[in-house]
Amino acid sequence: MHIYQHILLGVDFSPESDAVIEKAKEQAEHYHAKLSLIHVVDYLPPSYIDDFIMPNDNLEASLIVRSKEQIKRLGKELNVSEKNQWVEIGSPKTEIIRLSEKEHVDLIIVGSHGRQGLQLLLGSTANAVLHSAPCDVLAVRITES
Ligand code: AMP
Repeated sequence: MHIYQHILLGVDFSPESDAVIEKAKEQAEHYHAKLSLIHVVDYLPPSYIDDFIMPNDNLEASLIVRSKEQIKRLGKELNVSEKNQWVEIGSPKTEIIRLSEKEHVDLIIVGSHGRQGLQLLLGSTANAVLHSAPCDVLAVRITES
């Protein structure tokens, strides 16, 4: 049986993320594995109003502050030290893969669906992570409640 040593939880803080968080907690306990957390703040392209480019710097900055608070709270709940809590900016799938390679993660845990809802068979982040991950991926099934 493979023993996982480093689990990465991708958390989007959607209402559905509780089940994903619970599964990550269970698996980390089961394998006595290190647990890391990542939340990615989607890159916000600038808005165009008439001929003016309006950067979204303020909105992005406040999303980062809020995300850091949320991940800190979750880290406390799951006993994950601050150096294993990551808030990144960009595309969730790219950042999850990049971090899993950099930190030698051997299991990524994501939800089958997230904020985008249940329309697709598998959410786009979950799908992309499954395709490109350098390690095993556990997609926690999210169903309509
Ligand atoms: P999606 O495929 O975007 O519907 O989301 C599926 C799962 O990918 C979510 O349940 C999360 O586990 C993960 N995920 C989605 N967006 C993010 C994000 N911004 N940061 C970290 N993980 C995410």
